[in-house]
Amino acid sequence: MDSELRQDIVSGDWVAIAPARSKKPEQFLKKEERVRVPIEGCPFEDPQKSGNNPPVLIYANDKKNSFIDKEFPGYQGDLKKWQVQILENKYPALKHKNVCAKEFKKGPYSIVEGVGYHDIVITRDHDKNFANLEKNTANLVFTAFKDRYLIIGKDNCMAYTSIFHNWGPKAGASVYHPHYQIISLPIIPPDIGRSLKGSDSYFFVNKKCVHCVMIEWENKKKARVVYENAGAIAFTPFVSREPFEVRIFPKKHLPFFEETEKKDMEAVTDVLQKVLKGIETKLKDPDYNFFIHTAPHVDKQKHGHYHWHIEVVPQISVSAGFELGTGIEITVVDPDEAAKMLKI
Ligand SMILES: [Zn+2]
Ligand SMILES: [Zn+2]
Repeated sequence: MDSELRQDIVSGDWVAIAPARSKKPEQFLKKEERVRVPIEGCPFEDPQKSGNNPPVLIYANDKKNSFIDKEFPGYQGDLKKWQVQILENKYPALKHKNVCAKEFKKGPYSIVEGVGYHDIVITRDHDKNFANLEKNTANLVFTAFKDRYLIIGKDNCMAYTSIFHNWGPKAGASVYHPHYQIISLPIIPPDIGRSLKGSDSYFFVNKKCVHCVMIEWENKKKARVVYENAGAIAFTPFVSREPFEVRIFPKKHLPFFEETEKKDMEAVTDVLQKVLKGIETKLKDPDYNFFIHTAPHVDKQKHGHYHWHIEVVPQISVSAGFELGTGIEITVVDPDEAAKMLKI
């Protein structure tokens, strides 16, 4: 295909889709093996022994293979059987207090105090990343996300809660053992703000959810669909900012992550696991990030037009001067080709 400048209908971002003619998509994939850090000295094998905070929430697996979740310290079961735990980060980017963040000025600059929450979610196995977790454990991770989200959401000082995962050093993970992060902020982050605004304007003009429209279109065309089940769908976005980027949506119009019922959440979890497994096997195990975009927990009544989703971004290309200087990403793999390679 010839190069195209494409504009994201939600965020307004521009992207240059410029597949390199001389190279096949496979040639952008990494060649080196993943470095496995040994279990000895891992700070997440026995987090509390390694000086981490006590868990905020802990989830264990009983003998019948059913899961018990109790808010710590009410949990009475065998803590050694934990499968998932949420801890407050030892080195938090933001700290919560009993009062909301103050806003102030310093000369020409605006400042909001760094009040918020910064948690990590750890799964038990040292090597099993999200793609390789047993289904029950993968579902439990999302149950933990939702439980913690609902607790933080009661704090009226918080505007937005971001849930994300860094897998591998290129994706920003400083510890090898699989872990996820939840950061809550007193402000709406700029990417979320633009996404909400775009979704709101589209709804105002068309009386439809922009993401539902895209889901319907992708489902009809099939060219970019990577995988779907009854409740969720994954496709490579028409306006991909990175090669092999994938977005996952619940099929039902759901603005709020935290209001998603078990069945729909399990459908999303299943699609996420399949997509990540596909990335691992078909793209030679690259590092990647995934994150949730959802309507915020402040001013909820205004955000019914939004459709929560997960974005998966493999760390394959590096942003250079043009990207930094213009905000326009150059994507060297056509998302249609990316979907062909990732299709399950
Ligand atoms: Zn470990
Ligand atoms: Zn929708």
